[in-house]
Amino acid sequence: MNRFLELAAPGVRGLKPYQPGKPIEELERELGIQNIIKLASNENPLGPSPKALAAAQQALADCWLYPDGAGFALKKVLSDRLDVPMDCLTLGNGSSDILDFAVRAFVTPADEVMFSEHSFAVYPILTQAAGAKATVVPAKDWGNDLATMKASLTDHTRLIFIANPNNPTGTWLDGEALEGFIRGLPRHILVVVDEAYFEYASHPAMGAKGYPDAVRWVAKYPNLIVARTFSKAYGIAGLRAGYGISHPDVADLMNRVRPPFNVSNVALAAATAALADDQHLTRSQELNAAGMRQLEAGFGAQGLPYIPSVGNFLCVDVGRPAAPVYDALLREGVIVRPVANYGMPNHLRVTVGRPEENERFLAALEHVLA
Ligand SMILES: *Cc1c(COP(=O)(O)O)cnc(C)c1O
Repeated sequence: MNRFLELAAPGVRGLKPYQPGKPIEELERELGIQNIIKLASNENPLGPSPKALAAAQQALADCWLYPDGAGFALKKVLSDRLDVPMDCLTLGNGSSDILDFAVRAFVTPADEVMFSEHSFAVYPILTQAAGAKATVVPAKDWGNDLATMKASLTDHTRLIFIANPNNPTGTWLDGEALEGFIRGLPRHILVVVDEAYFEYASHPAMGAKGYPDAVRWVAKYPNLIVARTFSKAYGIAGLRAGYGISHPDVADLMNRVRPPFNVSNVALAAATAALADDQHLTRSQELNAAGMRQLEAGFGAQGLPYIPSVGNFLCVDVGRPAAPVYDALLREGVIVRPVANYGMPNHLRVTVGRPEENERFLAALEHVLA
C-alpha cells in the first residue's frame, strides 16, 4: 500500500505505468542467455545514421552547457524541410512530450479526451493523469472508426488522439477520410494526429496509397496538432527527440507548458544531423518494407492471421492466449510485445527487424507453437 496514495491527484491514484518492451539486459539477467534479439519496441534495426551518431558524439563535449532551449538549429532544418514557419514547431523529449503538452495545455478535469480502442497506451495515461474523462471508441477492423468517433463527440470533448498508422495494430486512415473528419470538427476540439511512423507508412514500397501527410493540413485547421518523432525511422529512440507541428497560437501554448530544456544538446545535434542523411532513411524504409513482406510470408506459411500494417511492426494472431507464447519466445531469446493490455489477448506485436532477425523470430514462433 502506497502511503501517499490519498495525497496524489485523483487521476494519478488509479494510474498504471506504461509497460515498455523488456530490455535485452533484463532478459539476459533473468535467463542467463546470450544472443537475444529485441523486436518489441519498434526501434530501427539499422540504428541511427552514422552522421547522427557523429554529431551526438561531438555534442557530448558540450554537455556541461545548457542546450539551446529554443532548439533553433533543429527547428530551422525542420521548418525548411516541412515548409512550415518556425513558430509552428514545438520540440519534445520524444514525441511523447508533444502528446503530454497537448493534454496539459488544453485538457482540464471537466473535459473529455477521445481515442480508439486498441490505440497507443500513452493516450489513456495522459487523459487519466489530467483527471479528464476518456471516451474510448470501439475500433472498426482494428482501426480508428471515424464515423463512430464523430457520433461519440459530446459538449465536453476537448481533444482527440488519432495515431496514423495506429500502434499497436498498424492500421491506417487515408487522406480523404481523415481530412474529412478533421474538417467536420468544431474548432474548439483539438485533434492530435500522431504520425510516429510517418516515414515508414509514407514510403511507396509500403503500398499505402492515399496515406496522408497531415502537416499539409496545419495551415487549414488551427485545431490540428501533428506529432512526429526521431525514435522510430530515424533510430535515435534512446536520445529522445520529437516535434509537434501546429498553428502558431497552439504551439505558443504548448511551449508554455514545455520544460525549458526538455531536449538535450546531444539529442538536438543528432536529430538535426539525422535529417540530413536521406540515404540512411531510405535504407531504413526499404529494409522495413522488405522485412514486412518477409514476416507476412512467414505468417502465411504458418497459417497465422495477422493485421496488415504500414508501420515497422505488425500484430499476429497466435490463436490462443498469447502470454505463454510470449514467455516461450523469451526463453528462445526473442523479445516481442504482448498486447493483452491493449485488449488483444491472442495477438503478439512484433517489430520488423533485419532479415536474419525476422527469420529467427519466425523459426522460434513455429517451434513454440508446434
Ligand atoms: C513510439 C510512439 C510514439 C513516440 O515515442 P517517442 O519515443 O516518445 O517519440 C508516439 N506515438 C506512437 C503511436 C508511438 O508508437
